[in-house]
Amino acid sequence: MPTFAQAGAILTIDVDAVAGNWRRLAERCGSATECGAVVKADGYGLGAEAIAPALFHAGCRTFFVAHVEEGIRLRRVLSHPDATIIVFNGPMPGAEAEFTVNRLIPVLNTPDQIARWGSHSYARGAGPLDAVLHVDTGMNRLGLVPAEVDVLLDRPELLAGIRLCLIMSHLCCADEAGAPQNEEQRRAFAMLRRRLSGLRASLANSPGIFLGPGFRFDLARPGAALYGVNPTPATTNPMAQVVRLQGKIIQVRDVDLPQTVGYGASYRVPGKGRIATVAVGYADGYLRSLSNRGSGFIGDVRVPLVGRVSMDLATFDVSAVPDDGARPDALIDLIGPRNPVDAVAAEAGTIAYEVLTSLGGRYHRHHISAGDVGAISTGEPVRA
Ligand SMILES: *Cc1c(COP(=O)(O)O)cnc(C)c1O
Repeated sequence: MPTFAQAGAILTIDVDAVAGNWRRLAERCGSATECGAVVKADGYGLGAEAIAPALFHAGCRTFFVAHVEEGIRLRRVLSHPDATIIVFNGPMPGAEAEFTVNRLIPVLNTPDQIARWGSHSYARGAGPLDAVLHVDTGMNRLGLVPAEVDVLLDRPELLAGIRLCLIMSHLCCADEAGAPQNEEQRRAFAMLRRRLSGLRASLANSPGIFLGPGFRFDLARPGAALYGVNPTPATTNPMAQVVRLQGKIIQVRDVDLPQTVGYGASYRVPGKGRIATVAVGYADGYLRSLSNRGSGFIGDVRVPLVGRVSMDLATFDVSAVPDDGARPDALIDLIGPRNPVDAVAAEAGTIAYEVLTSLGGRYHRHHISAGDVGAISTGEPVRA
C-alpha cells in the first residue's frame, strides 16, 4: 500500500461507524432476531480483516462471506469459537474439506451441493456436519426450487450426515418497499419454513430489515447498511457514513475559450476558469461513468467533474474555489460528508454497492477507530 505522501488518494474507513451501524441494525432487529453481518468481497471493499473483529467486539456472532477463500481469511482474524462463519456460495466440487478444516458452514444451494456435503460428512465419519439450506422464493438465482424441496422432504435420507441449522432465502426487491414481490416471497418463505419445521430462518438483507417485523425471522443478514449505504432509499439514510475518499490535486491550470478538457474533447470550457487534475482514475475504481457528471467538494464548495475520467486522472472545475483552496497537494473529497457514497453512485448511474466494491488498490487506506481497539491499518488484525 502506498504511504500517505506517495498516494494519489486517501481512503479513510471509519471502523467505529461500521460498529455503530451494526448496533443500530441490531436494535432495529429487536430481541427476537439475531443480527449478523455480511462481510463478503472483503467487507464490501473496505477491509473485512479490520471490520469483522470490530463487529465481533460490538456483539455480532454470525458472519457471511461469498467464497470459501474469504471464509478462510476471515477465520484467521475471527478464531473465537463463538464466531460462526457462513459461506453463501457453498462448496465447489473438491473444496469440501476446506470448510471443515476452517470451521466454515456452507450454504447448500443445489441438490448436488447437498449430495457432496453428505458424502464429505460420511467420509469424515465424525458425526453430522452443519449446513444452511438455501431455498429460492422468487429470485431465481440460487437455492432449491420448490420441486427440489419436495424431493428433500419425501426422501430425508438425502440429508443423511447433514445437520441443517438454518433455512435461508433472498429478497429480490427489498429496496423497493412497495414491490409486490416482497410480500410474495415472505409468504412463500414462511410456508417453506413451516414444512421444514423447527429450523431457524433468515430472509432479510439490509433493506429487508426495514420492511417490517414479518421479514426479520430469526437471523438478519445486513451488508450494505453496515457500510453506510442507505437501506431505505425512499427516505433519509438512518446509517452513518463510513467512507471518505480524498483525491490529491497534482496540478491546477488556467483555461479559457476555446479550450477543451481531456480525452475526446468532451468538455468545452465555458470561459475563463481553472481546472484541477486529481490523481485518481477508473483504474482506482473511480468510475468512468462519472465523466462530465460527477462532482467533488473542496470544503463546502462543489467542484464539478469535467471531461472524461481517464485511467489514472480526473479533472475538476475549481473556478469557484479561492486560490489557496485549490492548489497542488490539496485534497478534493471524491466521497465525503457532502457527497456520500449513495450520491456518488447516483451520479455514476450505478448503486453504492458497486462504488464501494470497486474502490481500488492504489489508495492509501487508513482504518480509524477511537475505541480501545486504537487506530488500525489494513491487514493488521485487531486482537480480541
Ligand atoms: C450480499 C447478500 C446479503 C447482504 O445484502 P445487503 O443488501 O448488502 O444487505 C444478504 N444475503 C445474501 C444471500 C447476499 O448475497
